[in-house]
Amino acid sequence: MASTSSATPLDSTGSADAEPGKNATSSGVRSSWEFFPALTAAKLPHGFSLRTGGINHPPPVRDLGIDPDRLIGAEQPHGNEIAFVENSSPRFYPGVDGLLTQCQGVALKIRIADCAAVYLFDPEIPALGLVHSGRKGSEAGIVAKAIEGFRNRWGSPAERLTLQISPCIRPPHYEVDFARQIREQALDMGVRSLFDCGTCTACHLDRYFSYRVEKGRTGRMWAVAMLPV
Ligand SMILES: [Zn+2]
Repeated sequence: MASTSSATPLDSTGSADAEPGKNATSSGVRSSWEFFPALTAAKLPHGFSLRTGGINHPPPVRDLGIDPDRLIGAEQPHGNEIAFVENSSPRFYPGVDGLLTQCQGVALKIRIADCAAVYLFDPEIPALGLVHSGRKGSEAGIVAKAIEGFRNRWGSPAERLTLQISPCIRPPHYEVDFARQIREQALDMGVRSLFDCGTCTACHLDRYFSYRVEKGRTGRMWAVAMLPV
């Protein structure tokens, strides 16, 4: 394990840099959430909770300007089904791993602890997607399905999307480089604004939960995002 501690992000695009929360206003927010520069630049309210934000209680989404009563979740059965969220009800979508919406003020949430959360954003519609994509979901092409969903539902060309991949488990801590699969599928679909923070959850247990390293006895990070009102 020690050999992986020197692992560095695979590339510099969209790196969750050394100053997570630099667009936050308080140290509490800074210690609870990480922010992705590409999404910040796109003016998309978002966050990725750190383990310092708490293990057994939800991170304070109000700090992100998100109403917890308008936070929508998914069952995340490691499949490739997506759902279109039309409003604040229902709050929970069974059987799906991806949520897409064009509703302003409705926040999407994906919970992970090694799998990737993938944020998708078309600023012109505007429309937002948040997808849970681990080994199985990536093999099943859920991100490609979400990109298709943007095109079919809203006419969003892939070239207009900003796509951000969150921290997730990566080689050598995991035998499958599913983040690479996600990147390849997105590029094949025509995505050009593609950002991968490159960070391995299992390499940084001070910041992230890792289901594999902690043998299932761990918490979850929350990936959240909301179209601005
Ligand atoms: Zn690692």
